[in-house]
Amino acid sequence: MAKLHLITYGCQMNEYDSERVAGLLGKQQYDLTDHPEEADLILINTCAIREKAEEKVFSKLGQIRGLKQKNPSLIVGVMGCMAQLQQGAILERAPMVDLVFGSPAIARVGELVERARRERRPVLETGEGPLTKLTSTLPRPDRLKAFVTVMEGCDKYCTFCVVPLTRGRERSHSLESILEEIRGLANQGYREVTLLGQNVNAYGTDLTPPTDLAALIERVNEVEGIERIRFTTSNPVNLTSRLIRAIRDVPKACEYLHLPLQSGSDRVLERMNRGYTRGRYLELIAELKETVPRIALSTDLIVGFPGEREEDFEATVEMVERVGYDSLFAFRYSPRPRTPAAEFPDQVPEADKARRLSRLLEVANEVGARKNAALEGREMQVLVDGVSKKDPRELSGRTRCNRVVNFDGRGRRLYGELAHLRITQAMPHSLRGTLVSAEVPALAS
Ligand code: SF4
Repeated sequence: MAKLHLITYGCQMNEYDSERVAGLLGKQQYDLTDHPEEADLILINTCAIREKAEEKVFSKLGQIRGLKQKNPSLIVGVMGCMAQLQQGAILERAPMVDLVFGSPAIARVGELVERARRERRPVLETGEGPLTKLTSTLPRPDRLKAFVTVMEGCDKYCTFCVVPLTRGRERSHSLESILEEIRGLANQGYREVTLLGQNVNAYGTDLTPPTDLAALIERVNEVEGIERIRFTTSNPVNLTSRLIRAIRDVPKACEYLHLPLQSGSDRVLERMNRGYTRGRYLELIAELKETVPRIALSTDLIVGFPGEREEDFEATVEMVERVGYDSLFAFRYSPRPRTPAAEFPDQVPEADKARRLSRLLEVANEVGARKNAALEGREMQVLVDGVSKKDPRELSGRTRCNRVVNFDGRGRRLYGELAHLRITQAMPHSLRGTLVSAEVPALAS
């Protein structure tokens, strides 16, 4: 068997794509290896969302150059968003790369690798291709949680974002093809699925007849063996009352929503072309909290977007406190090539961005810690997915609201099981609990 070393940067969509690539190449006799020095093929799945992510790729390619010098038959490929957007720069800065291809070409990865091997000159494949549902995965020992892409692309054209340029327009996979994939995962033992799309709650509007994410979640709920359903990433513009009710009413839908806000200032939201105001966002939050009182909320925020003034930034901080996010991801704005915001004249100095980011994270940590503390004493269900990072004698699981809880499993074999815990202690980024009951009570001998 030939050996494949696969390096993945970026979002869950990229992790999903990498799994599919590994599955497809597995059929062509490529075995995964963790050791780049023994690989016959190295593929880097890239992210273009931030400049830092791109620099990481170039630095990794610099390391791989040495391996290629030692082993000239090694094939090196770059795939994903950066490949789609920066093919010229990749070949210029790393001329030893043999293959560059975007996400639409993933279904043909085997053929592209063979072409690169045969032709011995760089193979470029970065056009838009037909939408193909890839269900091929490598058998994994930890079959528990899986990502399932339900739609590709995005039509929203936020002024800071490259996704519409790298992933193309919004296109939904058919409901039946998604269900078939999820039934297959359930048969392999998976218990949790996360439905993925850059703009997942726009799912189905482009299908004939049209459908929606709520309908998809209802159907996934019927798949035997699957216990939990999550979805990401949602856009406030497409968040409907029907979807909010589905989170409340569909038993396997988890009470957790990641709803990117990006900025708390209407002026900045408009310049970002986000399509909603702070008032509209707060209306949605009110409806969510009223319909699903125990819902956990997370968000994405950008600080230092061009033209962001101190008062705009303070409006963002105020939103974090007002909404009471359980967790959030905050980033300094970094200009991306070919996006409108990169050309805006009023770029914010890096020092201001850094100061604002650290203040925002401080507030977010305080808010998150308060939310965690409020869970002490509560009984919660976790899906046990491993051992504690700090103490391998302890088990670890995630609540339906996506928090990590570490606990003493009292010697029980609980991996992959649903356990009920009482939360005894809230830490800044995790919880501690004690076992109340579990699906499999057998004691280890
Ligand atoms: S909705 Fe999300 S993926 Fe689409 S353009 Fe805006 S930030 Fe990018």
